[in-house]
Amino acid sequence: MTITPLMPVYPRCGVRPVRGEGVYLYGERGEQYLDFAAGIAVNALGHGHPHLTKAIAEQAATLMHVSNLYGSPQGEALAQRIVDNCFADTVFFTNSGAEAIECAIKTARRYHYVGDTPQRTKIITFHNAFHGRTMGAISATNQDKMRNGFEPLLPGFAYAPFNDLEAALALIDDQTAGFMVETVQGEGGMTAGTPEFIQGLRKACDEHGLLLILDEIQCGYGRTGKFFAYEHYGITPDIMTVAKGIGGGFPLGACLATEEAARGMVIGTHGSTYGGNPLAMAAGQAILDVMLEPGFFDHVAAMGDRLRGAFEQMIPNHDDLFEEIRGKGLMLGIKMKEPAVARDFVAHLRDNHGLLTVAAGENVFRVLPPLVIDESHIAECVERLSAGARSFALPMDD
Ligand SMILES: *Cc1c(COP(=O)(O)O)cnc(C)c1O
Repeated sequence: MTITPLMPVYPRCGVRPVRGEGVYLYGERGEQYLDFAAGIAVNALGHGHPHLTKAIAEQAATLMHVSNLYGSPQGEALAQRIVDNCFADTVFFTNSGAEAIECAIKTARRYHYVGDTPQRTKIITFHNAFHGRTMGAISATNQDKMRNGFEPLLPGFAYAPFNDLEAALALIDDQTAGFMVETVQGEGGMTAGTPEFIQGLRKACDEHGLLLILDEIQCGYGRTGKFFAYEHYGITPDIMTVAKGIGGGFPLGACLATEEAARGMVIGTHGSTYGGNPLAMAAGQAILDVMLEPGFFDHVAAMGDRLRGAFEQMIPNHDDLFEEIRGKGLMLGIKMKEPAVARDFVAHLRDNHGLLTVAAGENVFRVLPPLVIDESHIAECVERLSAGARSFALPMDD
């Protein structure tokens, strides 16, 4: 037998964390890492945040799980708090991002099904998109590396280049249900939607009776310096998926919708055994207790500006290595110059300089620190990154 008991689908690296404290992770041998990956934008409050861990421990001891067959004071309270603070009128809780995407796809199809346009089943998505790994979510991206070997996929998707409004509009036909797009692309390369693009999609939806689904699983929940990234664009979506930061490390996701967009989601149309259980709701409340304190998002925006400014100063010293900075707030990416070196550079920072970052598409590495970092962490990151850039040996062209 050569297969490992843990199904070998990840290229797992040598870092084997066993403990976390604030912005730091500790491995099995006690070695310390500055964690500017944060579980890929999940650990919004860092590791071991006392308010979050206390809320989870207390709720676990009080009531961990009951079926969704019963009334949910915990779910009602968190949903109310979310709708009070964004465009949405209603929330379906899930355990992951991909499940939130499934709910969004179903909500969009049902919207047209119960109206006068049941033929509108097709969702237009975008190149380099990442929406998760379920069959629905991989059908919603045209990236071969995620789709190969899993066909037949779910029909009803069309794909346009990201940030190309004209190409997206050209795909609209009488089967189109709406658009699904990351407001800021994460895995694809940390590219923010341009205002013209995001606003143009909104306008097209209004004109054609389509739904705008925003995937804010990575860019939502404070990451860009606002509660949700769409707030930067002066528009609102009809449906939105969130996850990652929403539970700060507790598995939680949500599909948010306006009353109109959710008109088809009536009793019996959807469900989840665990979705929205009391333990998850306690984690979600604890996160909002911290994030909705006055000044929290301003802090993220300020730290994002600092970090970006520091990167901008560093880049000219290493212009053989770095090309440009992308992203918004504390969702930053640095594009590398030499083709296909981002992954090696991430490994180098990790193994030789104790700095955790994440590779992304388009030869970009992602910097996604906990949102609670302060200037000392930024200084430490820049120090380790500069040292890493100095000691990084580019692959030789021979
Ligand atoms: C991570 C991510 C997902 C998938 O979330 P899972 O919890 O892994 O299912 C979907 N969309 C975006 C934008 C993401 O970053």
